[in-house]
Amino acid sequence: MKVTFPHLGNAYIAIEALLEGLGHHPITPPLGTRRTLEWGGKYSPEETCLPFKTILGNMLEGIELGADSVYMIGGWGPCRLGYYAEIQRIILHDLGKQVEFVTLEVPQKNYTVAYRRLRNVLGNTNVARLARGCRLAWAKLKVVEQAETIALQVRPREKWRGATSLFLEEQLQKLRNAQSMGAVRRIEIDTTEGLRSLSDDSTPDLLRVGIIGEIYTVVEPFVNSRLEERLGYLGVEVVRTISLRRWVEEHIFLNALGLYNYRSLKRSAQGYLHRFVGGHGLESVARSVDLAKENLDGIIHIFPMSCMPEIMAQAILPEVSRDMQIPILSLIVDEHAGETGFQTRLEAFVDLLQRRVRVGECLQEERCTLG
Ligand code: SF4
Repeated sequence: MKVTFPHLGNAYIAIEALLEGLGHHPITPPLGTRRTLEWGGKYSPEETCLPFKTILGNMLEGIELGADSVYMIGGWGPCRLGYYAEIQRIILHDLGKQVEFVTLEVPQKNYTVAYRRLRNVLGNTNVARLARGCRLAWAKLKVVEQAETIALQVRPREKWRGATSLFLEEQLQKLRNAQSMGAVRRIEIDTTEGLRSLSDDSTPDLLRVGIIGEIYTVVEPFVNSRLEERLGYLGVEVVRTISLRRWVEEHIFLNALGLYNYRSLKRSAQGYLHRFVGGHGLESVARSVDLAKENLDGIIHIFPMSCMPEIMAQAILPEVSRDMQIPILSLIVDEHAGETGFQTRLEAFVDLLQRRVRVGECLQEERCTLG
């Protein structure tokens, strides 16, 4: 089958390897653009969140490239993601798209449907090919996340502006084409060494800012207006709190085995939020407490307009900010958000953090004239 799927940052590199292992032909949609959003938005219910519209746009672009099947993740409340796949399936059907729509979710009751989906997903593969595809996909996802994390440290210290993003992109395309574990390993080493060599070690101490929020908005650069890159160029080292590998381990593998619980998140969020509220709402509160304890200089909370779990987190975060003495900026994105206003808010926040640090340092000296 020719399978298309929605984008989620650079995860497409691993998804392609997995689909090949499953015996399918991956049809990766183009990276998100204005066209993606406008096309998806045109057929989406007005009140749906931005991820729904962008993902529908990805699906339409994938079908345009010849896909005959669409894979989409599902879920079980309380977040709206649980029924998005079904609505998208109906929209594509109403538009006359003749595609097989497969929702991937951990089964709760109807094991017959789950079994039918599994058979569909398994396609024409054999055990050896499947095992190889899974190993390759997992290894590629690890290298993607590792490289992105190093890039976050190097970008604000880079010797030539833009070199980190350029080199990272080149290496990710090599990784995309890698067909063996040996090749993946070699790319991992080259990428790590190459990125480190771009860093100017004489750079003075930098601001460190953590990013929390709704997973799709945090990970997908088209939706977050390349937030991590913008902060890097403002001289900020970004600390990520969301890992796709961890998400897959916890929400798919452990959840399917009934072994995942929210105990550690609830422990971190204690006193602020005591239960799962859907999406990444609980994570956002818990991680902000953790980041404050790690002495970060600030936190950015980003989420799409009308995202219920993150609206709940947003209502709690001012209290965390006050108690833990850490500035938190909330950024809400939708299809009407302008780049200039977005950049201005980031610059103002970084200015505030720098001033805070200067005042803090000055107060430790005897003759402080700041403040
Ligand atoms: S977490 Fe928020 S943005 Fe994501 S699907 Fe749910 S409601 Fe939409």
